[in-house]
Amino acid sequence: MTLAKAAQRVAEEFEFTPDQVRNGVKEFLAEMDDGLQKDGTFMNQIPTYVTAVPNGTEKGLYMAVDLGGTNFRVCSILLHGDTTFTLNSSKIKIPQTLMKAQTAKELFAFLAKQIEAFLKEHHGEHYECHIEKKQKGEQASEEEIFNMGFTFSFPVRQVGINKGYLIRWTKGFDIADAIGKDVCGLLQAEIDALHLPVRVAALVNDTVGTLMARSYTSPGKTGTLLGAIFGTGTNGAYVEKLSKVTKLTNAEEKGLYDESTGEMIINTEWGSFDNGLKTLPNTKYDAALDKDTPNTGIQMFEKRISGMYLGEILRLAIVSLLDDPAVPLFSDENSGSNDFRTTTLVNKDSALLKPWGIDTSFLSHTGGDSTPGLQITRQVLQRDLGVHGPSIEDAQAVHVIAAAVGKRAARLSAIAVGAIVLQSKRLDVPASDPPIDDDMVDIGVDGSLVEFYPGFEEYMREALGEIPGVGEKGEKRIRIGIAKDGSGVGAALIALVAGRALDAVAR
Ligand code: ADP
Ligand code: MG
Repeated sequence: MTLAKAAQRVAEEFEFTPDQVRNGVKEFLAEMDDGLQKDGTFMNQIPTYVTAVPNGTEKGLYMAVDLGGTNFRVCSILLHGDTTFTLNSSKIKIPQTLMKAQTAKELFAFLAKQIEAFLKEHHGEHYECHIEKKQKGEQASEEEIFNMGFTFSFPVRQVGINKGYLIRWTKGFDIADAIGKDVCGLLQAEIDALHLPVRVAALVNDTVGTLMARSYTSPGKTGTLLGAIFGTGTNGAYVEKLSKVTKLTNAEEKGLYDESTGEMIINTEWGSFDNGLKTLPNTKYDAALDKDTPNTGIQMFEKRISGMYLGEILRLAIVSLLDDPAVPLFSDENSGSNDFRTTTLVNKDSALLKPWGIDTSFLSHTGGDSTPGLQITRQVLQRDLGVHGPSIEDAQAVHVIAAAVGKRAARLSAIAVGAIVLQSKRLDVPASDPPIDDDMVDIGVDGSLVEFYPGFEEYMREALGEIPGVGEKGEKRIRIGIAKDGSGVGAALIALVAGRALDAVAR
């Protein structure tokens, strides 16, 4: 068989038809509803207790901190009230010893110290003034306290806008003492010990931050519907009618949010959409990848879409061709032998031969390669993947398969985006022709995949147009924008609405 034919055959395994998109949307809508009604579903539909999105007129000075896997980021954000903002920030690497501290207090005291240092550097006057008052025994007034959003990227059971219990650590952290404790409370206690003028007003998920940041900066009067991440993982948070969140019923929960908007932002955790594989594709490469992960059978949607996995899917597909003696991929034509396996151009220690050896950025490089003779693909194959002097045919084969993997990811993403647009019923409202700003359904996105994979949005849009109830007309009313600095600005905006809600509840 020719190489081109073999590659084409593998690429076809990644085709995801319009019918499959439509079936996926149906299943997604069903799983969304299920998750709104009860706990314990795979697509968790976590209520965030955030009950409004910003419209760009918000004003004021807020703080945001972000504890990710590696760094602790502290920012202050001045919202100008005209969809623009200015941002100060600092970033500190978390010391290894604190990631495995004996007590939670050690870590959170360190975090509070960083907030103190940031305040002294960027808001010195405010800080001094507050400390002076404290020393005189005067009470600080509400306006003098910074409301702060706390982005905490570990699994928590959130029970209020600024309350969430740590379920488990991930990403190398291990402090047993913190498990089951309210992480906002832990941070607030250490902030108070330093007498800082800061209130931990909100616990923030990065998807919600993206939604808020986009809603603040987006054009037009209509708030953003969805914030979606396509980075290492994939997830989304959207605006839902409060009346649909029927699992939020008990009195303790009800006291913790403002019901007046009639809406609540829901963190879908859509990475675990259709773990049962009722509608998702499952090639032999998908199945092999899943087996090789610590969470087999879970996050099945994410495993077909996001940056952590696409490189490995591509690698497995390429290896399947390499293993086929009838397919001349990366074969050394000058060797004089006809056995492709012994005459390969592939280095013995090539990343191609190592599980998880290909980074998803490779898909972007070859996917977007429009040079004559696929120069870029051949260069990257040589430089990053240890293939010596690949031919144009080799590069063509890799390009075709990589493009198919990327396109499938984008078309799968349309299931989530399309289902949430349908759920919102925003397209049912008649629009002008052509649609004006206020007719648009706005979506904020973040993550390297959507930002850098060439054509990701176009492929997603093509699939959106195939969904009944969206169609080509509806697709044109969907506006997708990157949410820059989403984690800082979004957390600040959540701190703003949370601060209001907390004040309202306190009154
Ligand atoms: P995070 O998810 O940690 O916030 P990113 O949004 O930057 O970070 O996503 C990182 C993921 O994106 C990694 O899995 C990486 O392989 C992938 N990635 C990085 N650069 C690119 C690129 N140019 N094209 C496609 N994927 C990329
Ligand atoms: Mg991110």
